[in-house]
Amino acid sequence: EADPTLRPEPLPEDNDRALRPRQLGDFIGQAEARANLAVFIQSARQRGEAMDHTLFHGPPGLGKTTLAQIMARELGVNFRMTSGPVLAKAGDLAAILTNLESRDVLFIDEIHRLNPVVEEVLYPAMEDFELDLVIGEGPAARTVRIELQPFTLVGATTRMGLLTTPLRDRFGIPTRLQFYTVDELHEIVTRNARTLGAPADEAGAREIARRARGTPRIAGRLLRRVVDFAVVEGDGRIDQALADRALTRLGVDGLGLDGADRRYLTLIAEHYQGGPVGIETLSAALSESRDALEEVIEPYLLQQGLIQRTPRGRMLGQRAWTHLGLQPPKSERD
Ligand code: ADP
Repeated sequence: EADPTLRPEPLPEDNDRALRPRQLGDFIGQAEARANLAVFIQSARQRGEAMDHTLFHGPPGLGKTTLAQIMARELGVNFRMTSGPVLAKAGDLAAILTNLESRDVLFIDEIHRLNPVVEEVLYPAMEDFELDLVIGEGPAARTVRIELQPFTLVGATTRMGLLTTPLRDRFGIPTRLQFYTVDELHEIVTRNARTLGAPADEAGAREIARRARGTPRIAGRLLRRVVDFAVVEGDGRIDQALADRALTRLGVDGLGLDGADRRYLTLIAEHYQGGPVGIETLSAALSESRDALEEVIEPYLLQQGLIQRTPRGRMLGQRAWTHLGLQPPKSERD
């Protein structure tokens, strides 16, 4: 079973605000996105207008929510938050939109999971800051138009491909977030360790950074667990030996892969001779939803060159064979 510590989805403990960067200047990594956002924020402020609608896409745990909060703070406006699956009816969204103050940021997480009826309401709201509401039913039904305050919609999605074209086209600022480099995660871990009162030396912080799957949320979780080991089994400081021991006990290997990642790779190696194998087959064999494989497990394996996506299915890369300590089948090597 996969340890939830190692998965990039939110857990209640993420609500701990201590580690969340609060200003663009404190936000480490995503240099290109950050530089662009700084310009757009400053321009919106100088013109006294709502900033253009912004879409963040990329794997979970890379800072989409954090950046949306930072935008609101730097724009000096309120931050309102909801998510695609929560907005069941058009009225749910209408209630939120009509309560926005001028230039507020409305953050919709998992925006690819909006009900189509709700999405229809969003179009005129985004485009003209207007809401068309149907009042009553049957022949007596009529439409009323409600003027909204100008606002900034910030959407977040792990699955850009699932967004409808009309919705995607209404975002003036589409921004892709990338996996973090080890150096960036090293900086985040070092800073957070200090905040948590368990200082990490250079090599200790690097060990955690190297094994955090390119993801700040995972780095934060791993750090907390390493801090537990440092407090109970050490002197409260984090060095490489302690970090390595703690992470190994958590089932995180040298590349930062956990049990679920290794099961995925081993399945393709041992049962499908390295592939290609279809995603549905993998999903059934691993008892993991296709979405979980595509959103959570595969992006990092792809980025690391451990797997490739081909039209006929997933294939192991050479690096995966090496990492698993297995030999690819003969035809692969010729
Ligand atoms: P997402 O919305 O993309 O799933 P979040 O914004 O919720 O990700 O970020 C996940 C966690 O990682 C949060 O606890 C946040 O504090 C931390 N985090 C994200 N980006 C950074 C960063 N650049 N520097 C430091 N911590 C970060």
